[in-house]
This record gives sequence, structure tokens and C-alpha cells, in this order.
Amino acid sequence: MDARPDSPCKTALIFGISGQDGAYLARLLLADGYRVHGTSRDREMSGFANLVQLGLKAQVGLHSAVLTDFRSVIEVIDRVRPDEIYNLAAQSSVGLSFDQPAETVNGCLIGTLNILEAIRFLKLKTRFYSAASSECYGNTGATPADETTPFHPRSPYGVGKAAAFWAVANYREAYGLFACSGILFNHESPLRPARYVTQKVVRGAADIADKKRDRLTLGALDVARDWGWAPDYVEAMARMLRHDRPEDFVIATGETHTLEAFVAEVFAQFGLNWRDHVDSDRALLRPSDISYSAGNPEKAQRLLNWRAEARMPQIVAQLVAAEIARRRSPDPSDG
Ligand code: NDP
Repeated sequence: MDARPDSPCKTALIFGISGQDGAYLARLLLADGYRVHGTSRDREMSGFANLVQLGLKAQVGLHSAVLTDFRSVIEVIDRVRPDEIYNLAAQSSVGLSFDQPAETVNGCLIGTLNILEAIRFLKLKTRFYSAASSECYGNTGATPADETTPFHPRSPYGVGKAAAFWAVANYREAYGLFACSGILFNHESPLRPARYVTQKVVRGAADIADKKRDRLTLGALDVARDWGWAPDYVEAMARMLRHDRPEDFVIATGETHTLEAFVAEVFAQFGLNWRDHVDSDRALLRPSDISYSAGNPEKAQRLLNWRAEARMPQIVAQLVAAEIARRRSPDPSDG
């Protein structure tokens, strides 16, 4: 399948354009000739640092929209009248979702419903991509999850994403909307905020290499994840909306690694032995966590001609190179 759009002048609206995926998706769609609009909860307050970093801020139309407020959702969709909507906005931290469960679940479900309802109400032919998550599955066990694997989420975040997934499926079946969920496994990039474990490891190892500290404390090191590269994954989102039918897809590399293997790779890139510097503290575990997560991207490969290019060692190499570059020329807005 050709990944490029049929017509050079489509319009896309990205809810959550200020985040990691929003910035990379905006870059991809602009390169494909789209007019790109995006939302933040407060356009005036958001610095859109990721769009600035990619040199894109001046090229996109920016709007304020709060997903749980139907008026603000329908207003921006009516103003932009997009061919494609991507909903990437969410409280996206699994850890924080245990402290803010209602905000997280409500935002995921009601936000998604508001977009679906707005498309219906305005009678638009808009195609809709909704960001689901591997967190919907909970523990997969050794058999990689595919589109038929039942959900068993283990966090309020996973519960909210699973509820939103079923809302999308229901509106597709009930009203014939072109609406799809991408069940994406973890994907990383230098735009990931410092709170995520991958960035904690990279920044911690860089600090140790720079002799700013000697130790790094993490939770359980035996958890295992399928880590992909965010720019690869936004390509899959775009292909889902260019497919001839609305369907849900698992997006993953198909390779699972332990956090210990990820940590070892990062420290090795800095010329360090992780065993000399890393402590594992089980007190940092969440009330319920996922120990093993594996995804099967065979359907995306078959129907979208998509496969993850970067695998864990290349991802680590790119994260480490970006961190070294960031330290050589620090962004003044960084803490
Ligand atoms: P980010 O957290 O980087 O970006 C999400 C954006 O959502 C933020 O920039 C923010 O924009 C907005 N947001 C933050 N909190 C809330 C809230 N409480 N209510 C509404 N909006 C909020 O996420 P990613 O780009 O990494 O991920 C994109 C989507 O994909 C998310 O929905 C995420 O849950 C999902 N996902 C991500 C995976 C990953 O590995 N990255 C894996 C699977 C799914 P602003 O502050 O400007 O309003």
C-alpha cells in the first residue's frame, strides 16, 4: 500500500499536538503536504516546546480545546473541518493515573466520545484515529497480544484507554464512522518527558558519566516491554487512516526486552557497567503493574505494509546521542 496521501491538500487536526507523538505526526503530515492544525488545553500557556524543537511551530494552526468540554471540541472541529482527526491528548502517565484516576479515565473516555459525537453531529466524513494502548492488555504473558486478545488493564490509565477503545468500536459499528484505534506499545524518543523510565535511565546514566552523581534507583528491573521508536509509530497512525477500511491495529516491534537489558544497553553506551551504579527498590512499584508486555504487529505488516524499523539497541543509541547533544547545548527552558 502506498503510504502517501491520495490528494496533496488534506487537512488534519491533531488533539494533543504538543506531546511527543503530536509533534512527530505533525512533521510527517506536513511533509506529506497536509494542512495541519493542532490543539492544546491552553494554547496561550503551552510553549509547544516539541514543535519548536522540530522547527514546526509556525507551520501549524494552533487552537485551545479541552476534550471533556463538548462545546470546545465541536467548535474547533467545526472551524477546521478536517479530513482526518488524530486524538493523542490524554493524561498519558500510567503512574500518575493511580493518583488521578477519575481525571485519567474521564479524560480518555469522555474526550473520545466528544470527538465521535462532534463528527456525527456535524455530519462530517472525517476519518478518526484514537490512541489506545498496550496498557489495555495488562500482562500479555509470553504469547504476544494481537487484535483478538482480551483486555485486562492493570491501571486506571489502562481502564480509560480500554473504555475509549470500545467507544470507538461501537461508533464504527453503530453509525458507520471511519474510526480506528491504534493499540500502540511503548514508543520512545528524545521528546519523551523526564518522568518516563526510559528517559530516567538515559539521563541518570548521563549524570553518572558526567560525575554529577554515582547512583540511580529504579523499580523492578525484571519487567519487560516492547519498546519502539516514536517516529516509526506515527507513520502507522497515518497509514491506518489511509487504509480502505476502518480497523484497529496493534503497533509494536514484536520484540520484548527486560528493563535490565535496556539499562545495561544505555550504561554500556556511556562506557559504564550498570551493576556498579543501579539500585532496584521494589518500594517504587505501582499498586498493580505489568510485568510482561509483548505485541504482535503481524496485521499492521500485512494490511498497512508497516513494520517498526528501529529496535531496542538502535533506539538506545539514538536516545543517548540526543542526550549528549542536549547537554552540549542545553535548552534554556529545561529545568
Ligand atoms: P504526551 O503525554 O507526550 O502528550 C499528550 C498530550 O495530551 C500532552 O501534550 C498534553 O497537551 C495533553 N494532556 C496532558 N494531560 C492531559 C489531560 N489530563 N487531559 C487532556 N489532555 C492532556 O503523550 P504521547 O505523545 O507520548 O502519546 C500520545 C497518545 O498516545 C496519548 O494518548 C498516550 O496515552 C498514547 N500512548 C502513548 C504511548 C507511548 O509510548 N508514548 C503508548 C501507547 C499509547 P497540552 O498540555 O498541550 O494540553
